[in-house]
Amino acid sequence: MIAEILCVGTELLMGQVLNTNAQFLSRRLSALGVSQYHQTVVGDNAQRLEDAYRLALSRADVVITSGGLGPTVDDITKRVAAKVAGKELVLNPQAEAHVRGRFQRMGRPMTENNLSQAMFTADSTLLDNPHGTAPGAIVPMGEGKVVIHLPGPPNELQPMWINHAEPWLQERSGNVLVSRYIRIFGMGESNVDELLADLEKQSNPSLSPYCSTGEVMLRATAGAATKAEAEALLMPLVEEVQKRLGDVIYAIEEDDTGSLARCAVEALKRRGWTIATADSLTGGMMASSMVEIPGASAVVKGGFVTYQTVSKTMLVDVPAELIEKYDVVSAEVAYAMAEGARKRLGTDIAISATGLAGPDGGTPEKPVGTVFVGISTAGKTEVLPLRLNGDRKRIRTLTMKHAMNAVRKAAEAVI
Ligand code: AMP
Ligand code: MG
Repeated sequence: MIAEILCVGTELLMGQVLNTNAQFLSRRLSALGVSQYHQTVVGDNAQRLEDAYRLALSRADVVITSGGLGPTVDDITKRVAAKVAGKELVLNPQAEAHVRGRFQRMGRPMTENNLSQAMFTADSTLLDNPHGTAPGAIVPMGEGKVVIHLPGPPNELQPMWINHAEPWLQERSGNVLVSRYIRIFGMGESNVDELLADLEKQSNPSLSPYCSTGEVMLRATAGAATKAEAEALLMPLVEEVQKRLGDVIYAIEEDDTGSLARCAVEALKRRGWTIATADSLTGGMMASSMVEIPGASAVVKGGFVTYQTVSKTMLVDVPAELIEKYDVVSAEVAYAMAEGARKRLGTDIAISATGLAGPDGGTPEKPVGTVFVGISTAGKTEVLPLRLNGDRKRIRTLTMKHAMNAVRKAAEAVI
């Protein structure tokens, strides 16, 4: 099956809106094993959209549109698709009830133009939109080809895709795909590649690497007639990767939404530990990255943003003499920050970070990227000395990730 994404909206061409829908859909399609050879962005212009449909339908089985389902005159996506299919749009009673219901619940009067959101070809299959007014649709285009219409706002498009369009496609393809996302921290992409090169050349199961700041994610995927058969193909590959990479793997999950912070929070929960943070160069990121995870309130007791030197003394009791003696960017200060934060809030564990994010302030002995992460538990306090590369944003993000990894390991450690 070949799919093609067609994003409609002049705002995309003007650079006012980043085309995140194309990225989202592409990732989901490749995880499904559906091929894509072209993508198009077209403005809100009927003739150019019509040309784009004809071209896309000449080379793909499924054309997925994003945007232009709204009530205004520039929302032409469905109308032009209907023209290409040689069909009429008619008022769909089920869609009309949905549109009217939305306005009723919002307590707003509905203008008649809103009913254009309930107009579909008679043979369309509607896709429910619980987060917005405009339903989506699967529209037969002849010769077994279809157009799938999705709304532009990502918070509407994504659940519609996951809950309705994807199951429909999967059923149609007759091939069940299963994946595992193997997440790696503490080993660079080229090292990972070197260790797994032969496995990355296989096709079913397949293994593909993706990189983000300081991390490598591997997606292992297998396809078969049933889920059980696909899993049987997949698991030996996952086990082989585990054997070769060892403990740089921090998670193996069925989706790609995981993060070091989530693993840290989950490990703390399992252990029944509370945590405190003392951020310096990270400016609250350590606390914030954990609080992003639902349910973090069970473990994150609180934290301190001890950015200027004086606040390290005022908030987490780092002796001024210690800072004077060793420098504010030092293992000793990271140690004292972590202990101080843990004692101040009475938590089981605390994490601290002090370092030079740059671009200024580096010296030959302490270049930009010199960072110390402190981890304190009742049993012991340790410091992780780091030399990080990159710009200010990258150094701060990497510091947070190292800290989350340290929390995860401490909470998982058997003592
Ligand atoms: P529309 O459905 O065309 O009225 O689009 C509504 C809104 O959805 C736009 O104003 C954008 O903010 C957003 N949007 C539309 N297309 C995309 C896209 N391809 N990627 C991300 N956001 C989009
Ligand atoms: Mg639009």
